[in-house]
Amino acid sequence: MSGHDGYAPGSGDPNFDVDSYDLDLTYRVRTNRLEGRALINGTVAWRTNSVAFDLIGLRASKVTIDGGQRARYRQGPRTLRVTLPRMMEAGEMFSVEITYAGAPSPRRSRWGTLGWEELADGALVAGQPTGAPTWFPCNDRPDDRAKYRITIATDPGYTGVATGVPGAIERRGGLEVRTFSTEVPTATYLAAVHVGRYTSLRAGGTYGPDNAEILLVCPPSLKSRARRFFAPVDDMMRAFDEWFGPYPQQVYTIVLTEDDLEIPLEAQGMAVFGANHLDPVFERLVAHELAHQWFGNSVGVARWQDIWLNEGFACYAEWLWAERAGRRTAAESATAAHDRMTGLAQDLIIANPGPDLMFDDRLYKRGALTLHAVRIAVGDDAFFDLLRGWAAEMRHEVATSDDFRAFAQRAAGVDLSALFTAWLDEPALPPLPATPHARTR
Ligand SMILES: [Zn+2]
Repeated sequence: MSGHDGYAPGSGDPNFDVDSYDLDLTYRVRTNRLEGRALINGTVAWRTNSVAFDLIGLRASKVTIDGGQRARYRQGPRTLRVTLPRMMEAGEMFSVEITYAGAPSPRRSRWGTLGWEELADGALVAGQPTGAPTWFPCNDRPDDRAKYRITIATDPGYTGVATGVPGAIERRGGLEVRTFSTEVPTATYLAAVHVGRYTSLRAGGTYGPDNAEILLVCPPSLKSRARRFFAPVDDMMRAFDEWFGPYPQQVYTIVLTEDDLEIPLEAQGMAVFGANHLDPVFERLVAHELAHQWFGNSVGVARWQDIWLNEGFACYAEWLWAERAGRRTAAESATAAHDRMTGLAQDLIIANPGPDLMFDDRLYKRGALTLHAVRIAVGDDAFFDLLRGWAAEMRHEVATSDDFRAFAQRAAGVDLSALFTAWLDEPALPPLPATPHARTR
């Protein structure tokens, strides 16, 4: 599926789809220098003789195509356009290797600064939604998911971690080189690298069909606090397995930075938290980021306008978890959120909030309330069947809001169209339907 995304019109090239990214990166913390080689295998979506990669703040020095042939290219401030050796037809495959380097920095966007960011003593990637081009050349569209192999070399004393399953650790020219790979189709914004003075430890058991492990990556000084704070992830994994189905990723890497961070952020099979989040009040965010492994990272959005499919579901997972942890029922969370939103501006259309409001807290809460309204309409058994069915049917696929509406309707065997119209298409906040009985799971 191709097409420019209306919410990020400058990003992505609909002329091709990427099958795999093989990124070989060297990062020097002291000088903030990133050197990269990206081998990108792609398929032409329709007749074209050039393809454009998003790349921001880094300079390409060499581009070869199909294993060695030098390619012509032109680099602008946001795009690297590569000329293919000939006109290619839809379905034809090509392979581009781009050598590039520079001092990576976040890009400014309507959503704030995004992408590669220096920490006090290291670096992180915050990709959502359009930060990926600050560290590798890519086709930056949420619907273009690919396999990844990421190799990260760092100075001794630093550890690089990336999305994917960790492989060999090698030494190369005095640097420590770590490799991560994943077969899971991953959106560019969900690929990430972290570099810091980290130690890593295994926590919990194994989860899902791929026996995914939990890896905790943190500064040694925060190790015992991190272990305690993230201990509930094991119980969350079991609860989410029950509610959403088997854990769909190959690993769950939790990175904890020594720096404070504004918000935690999910990546594919990964989440990052700041030292400031090691506080019991933020346990809800641990549940939130974990839920994205099902909703957002496995079942992904094809277009940014459907972001409620990520955030509404992750927010509802917070409420379910609060109930399981014995704090308050999901119905109580729903009532509290509804009460709060009654007093706020009602100018948001959840199914198409506009780019400026796509990360608005009201979208998260009202997305969760939409699910709660569905739960009340269909009953608990049908509701949880629906969540599991959706996660299974759309596993590692991209979806739209209409896909979910059609699926829910079909799965529940109940006419939900008026409910969805009221909650998703109209700005006015619908009344919260009464909970039949406060039955909990
Ligand atoms: Zn989220």
